[in-house]
Amino acid sequence: MTVTVAAGGSAVTPARRVYLPTFGVAAATAGLVWYAVATLERQGSLGRVLALGRAELVAPAVVVVVAVALVCERLWPADGRREVTAGLAHDAGYLLVHLTVAVPIMTLLSVAFGSLLAFHARWMELGGTASWPRPALFALTVVLMDAGNWLAHWADHRLEPLWRFHALHHSQEELNVLTAFRAHPLSHLAGFFLATLPVVVLVGDREVAPALITGYVCVGTLSHANVPWTFGPIGKVIVSPAYHRIHHSPQGALGLNLGVVLTVWDVLAGRARFPNPAAPACATGLAGRPVPVEESGLELRTLLAQLGEPFRARRGGQGRAAAPS
Ligand SMILES: [Zn+2]
Ligand SMILES: [Zn+2]
Repeated sequence: MTVTVAAGGSAVTPARRVYLPTFGVAAATAGLVWYAVATLERQGSLGRVLALGRAELVAPAVVVVVAVALVCERLWPADGRREVTAGLAHDAGYLLVHLTVAVPIMTLLSVAFGSLLAFHARWMELGGTASWPRPALFALTVVLMDAGNWLAHWADHRLEPLWRFHALHHSQEELNVLTAFRAHPLSHLAGFFLATLPVVVLVGDREVAPALITGYVCVGTLSHANVPWTFGPIGKVIVSPAYHRIHHSPQGALGLNLGVVLTVWDVLAGRARFPNPAAPACATGLAGRPVPVEESGLELRTLLAQLGEPFRARRGGQGRAAAPS
């Protein structure tokens, strides 16, 4: 085995310089994506399914929400920054990664989990839901999908290999609406597994109304906007930008306000911290900057370093976010 010697004189093996569990997450994601591609190619529907996924996740409504939020951030910034910050410019790079890499991966993970669960766990399908009123069935499915996403987000903060990917999302110190897309393309494994479960149980191989999924994505995107909106009484139920900003504070990253669209799961878990409209906006980012942070705008080198960071061993342990006491 090759052994190199670090500057400090201690022997460092290649195995010690990498964090192997994240390679396992990457391999599992790659395997599932390959399975979905093979399945869809056999059916001759790969292009159609990828286009459908893109239409749901990057629908015109999502584009409108982003555009309006970008204007509102200039008019009423929560943190007082009206200019185009380095963080916003850098997150525009992540929007590109999202569109070209993450959206196809998310769509294919959804297909893979749906297909595997329907094939190997048909017993999970709840019989008789076909006769339920469709709006009620779809609304219940989306609420349970949100519960699945909450659980996956909790796991992102509790389990070291998942946190190493999720930390990139929390590294933004100038939170803005495009931070919604600042996610590692390999960070979606747990979320899509847990969000697919209620679809298989309730809807089977029928499709959830695309408009509901798009609406869900819109709320989850808007919650990152740098605006002080609490949504008033509605904000007690729906995640507002002010509520999600607390999750992006160094303290929130310890496991507060994990909700994606509904706050109820945080309330039930004792993790909800509702914003005080009179209080100044909290700072965002991670204490100690375990993930490199851009300094001057869209920096390709920093972006690549951020994407590669989960695979590197960290000095003094991996620095997992812990649960709040
Ligand atoms: Zn977020
Ligand atoms: Zn988080």
